[in-house]
Amino acid sequence: MAMNRVQFQRGLSMVEFMNQYGTREKCEAALVASRWPSGFVCPACGGASRSSFRREGRLYWQCAQCPHQCSATSDSIFHRSKLPLTSWFLGMHLLTQAKNNVSALELKRHLGVSYATAWLVKHKLLEVMRLREEDRQLTGRVEIDDAYLGGELSGGKSGRGSENKVPFVAAVQTTETGKPHLACFSARPFTKESIREFIAHSTVLPLTLVSDGLGCFAVAAELGAVHDRTVTGGRKASVELEQFRAVNTILGNLKTALTGTYTP
Ligand SMILES: [Zn+2]
Repeated sequence: MAMNRVQFQRGLSMVEFMNQYGTREKCEAALVASRWPSGFVCPACGGASRSSFRREGRLYWQCAQCPHQCSATSDSIFHRSKLPLTSWFLGMHLLTQAKNNVSALELKRHLGVSYATAWLVKHKLLEVMRLREEDRQLTGRVEIDDAYLGGELSGGKSGRGSENKVPFVAAVQTTETGKPHLACFSARPFTKESIREFIAHSTVLPLTLVSDGLGCFAVAAELGAVHDRTVTGGRKASVELEQFRAVNTILGNLKTALTGTYTP
């Protein structure tokens, strides 16, 4: 079987992770470097002079120009958390390295915490990841497709028109050779207005939108994009087409991740 470069790409091994973030001091140093890459700046007055001290083991900065005190975790998702920073960092590592998502139950076992804590950690991390990605805009060649996920009820129709699943749109920016580069997802109905909103928010010109011709994607042309439309005559046919390879791969991975993580 041919080697898949994506699957064989180098990640951060657990050994490397422990070397880099295995102690509270190392985690704190990473936060400080990320928060103040050019040295301390007081969040209250902008001053750069400070002294530092530890309280209950936690490192604090005292601004020299105003009474403000802060730690590396102040005003972050780690703020006032009783969970050690090392556990937060391990949670981040596990959640971001896994191809198929990590359930709160798995996280509970890995971190040695209660289910409620694991759930909170996971959802706080997911929320900051969402915020970080919210302004992402795709450009150049972008494959777009609609899909349905989940649903409490079994049965019913599959694909477009399914009555018990959540409709969402996936868009994948590819390289010129069709390799996936960046992706945007949005749970929304497939109305012309909703797709227009999604394209306007998640893409930037120049844009060539490759779709299977669902009517509402034609709004792309109204927004100045080139619409490369292929009428496939049904989902099965479009899944096999080379020009939708990137978006179909992402959709396949997403569905597998959701099924594998959330199905009991
Ligand atoms: Zn200050």
